[in-house]
Amino acid sequence: MGKIIVYSNKTWALYNPFKFDGIMNARIHKIMTEEQDFPYSLTWNNDVCFGTKNDLSKLKDTIWLCVNDEKYQDFHMPRKGIVTSRYKFRDGRNHNGIDIGLNIGDTVYATWSGKVRYAKFNNGGFGNLIILRHFNGLETYHAHLSKILVYPDQDVKSGDPIGLGGNTGHSFGPHLHFEVRFYDQPMNPEEIIDFDKKVLKDENLYVHAGLFRPGAKPTDYYENKPDGTTTATKPPVVKVKTVQKKYYQVKSGDTLTEIASRNQTTVSKLCELNGIKPSSVLQAGKSLRIK
Ligand SMILES: [Zn+2]
Repeated sequence: MGKIIVYSNKTWALYNPFKFDGIMNARIHKIMTEEQDFPYSLTWNNDVCFGTKNDLSKLKDTIWLCVNDEKYQDFHMPRKGIVTSRYKFRDGRNHNGIDIGLNIGDTVYATWSGKVRYAKFNNGGFGNLIILRHFNGLETYHAHLSKILVYPDQDVKSGDPIGLGGNTGHSFGPHLHFEVRFYDQPMNPEEIIDFDKKVLKDENLYVHAGLFRPGAKPTDYYENKPDGTTTATKPPVVKVKTVQKKYYQVKSGDTLTEIASRNQTTVSKLCELNGIKPSSVLQAGKSLRIK
């Protein structure tokens, strides 16, 4: 029988001390351990952050993960806030996650359902760190917390409060350092989450070797070549239709109706563009926006 943990805002959860092998998704684990050129490994360890040295740049297949499944991994933002630093090369090494600004004590949530693998102070710079392992095969890291609200091996549901934001470890100012890892190797969290719009980008995530290059930008910016490699391309350009503004200088005696008809527009459009009413008195010499 496990220990019963009482949440402050929930009823209870069972802390199960039985020996768990760490495999949340048997199908993915089979592909990773049996069907690749290199047998990848994945340990369940409550004391070590990332135990394996899996080189995922040698991953043979593209593995399709569902990151918004109704049964297990309903998505929830870990923390809604301003992005203060992105996944990139920084200070001579890769910044393996994304930084979200917060105030000390702000709640940090589980992004998906899963199990707590690691929940304690980390001397390597993370400060108070929570690592969750999810059914979709991913792990999420939450660093620099002021308070840890979960226990190793505890089950969590997406949206559960797991910790409070802070400034512990190697941190200069309160923020959440959030990482997404697959078989111990980090990928750009922006592959999955739009941190500006604060939504999931897509319920599908295609995991391939190209994701694991340090500083890799989201998949959109890569092109898959026939030989299986990927090359960086320019981000897709979004064409915004711009309206060429046009102005007319009001002359004495002009009426809105006349101006509108001379410029193939309507009175209501002119009123909208200029913030005026059809009954507004036009002053000669004033500039009126036509388009
Ligand atoms: Zn960070």
